[in-house]
Amino acid sequence: MGIAENIESVISSLPPEVKLVAVSKTKPNQDIQSAYDAGQRIFGENKVQELVEKHQTLPQDIEWHYIGHLQTNKVKYIAPFISLIHAVDSLKLLRVIEKEGAKNNRRINVLLQFHVAEEATKYGLSMDEARTILKDPLFSTFQHVSVVGVMGMATYTDDLTQVRREFSTLKTYFEQLKQEFFAESQFFNEISMGMSGDYPLAVEEGSTMVRIGSTIFGERNYSSR
Ligand SMILES: *Cc1c(COP(=O)(O)O)cnc(C)c1O
Repeated sequence: MGIAENIESVISSLPPEVKLVAVSKTKPNQDIQSAYDAGQRIFGENKVQELVEKHQTLPQDIEWHYIGHLQTNKVKYIAPFISLIHAVDSLKLLRVIEKEGAKNNRRINVLLQFHVAEEATKYGLSMDEARTILKDPLFSTFQHVSVVGVMGMATYTDDLTQVRREFSTLKTYFEQLKQEFFAESQFFNEISMGMSGDYPLAVEEGSTMVRIGSTIFGERNYSSR
């Protein structure tokens, strides 16, 4: 099947309110253009330089999402155009995004990344760490960065019970944070969870945004996890 057909089949399997982030990392512009021509507008990348090049050469109404671990010294390159940064896991990074948002006179939307998987190597916060960030007096002064939800990755395993439990944990974190810190916010609404191998479960557990690469574009030439 081609990219357009893959997009169509993924979308038809999603509830209409769940957003699809087409993860185009490592894939050439022509593949992204095919997805764009099929109507897809949200794309996810995890390397700053690759993202900047793609942003410069592809249609300007694409919403680019940054889905990888972001180094503070690279925020400036994506701050002018990024729609959503999925994987923020420190106050230090939030501060830099705030600063770059101010320079660009815009408000940058971000998600807090949580560690819900068993694997020790994955980035992400615990609930305690998130509370520490959100209670920091500095956080309440931010005008150019908005926390609009949470993001997480489940363990890479065939144990579907475990995967479901991890997604459910992330949903619980979302609800707790909403109650404790964002009860007044209209913007804190997103739960980014689910990839090619596990998105149906993520949707069942309350995902609002799935990040799907290989099911749309085919396997990548390297192992990213
Ligand atoms: C690569 C990647 C994806 C997409 O993975 P697939 O298994 O190809 O769907 C989703 N989320 C993150 C954070 C990624 O790095």
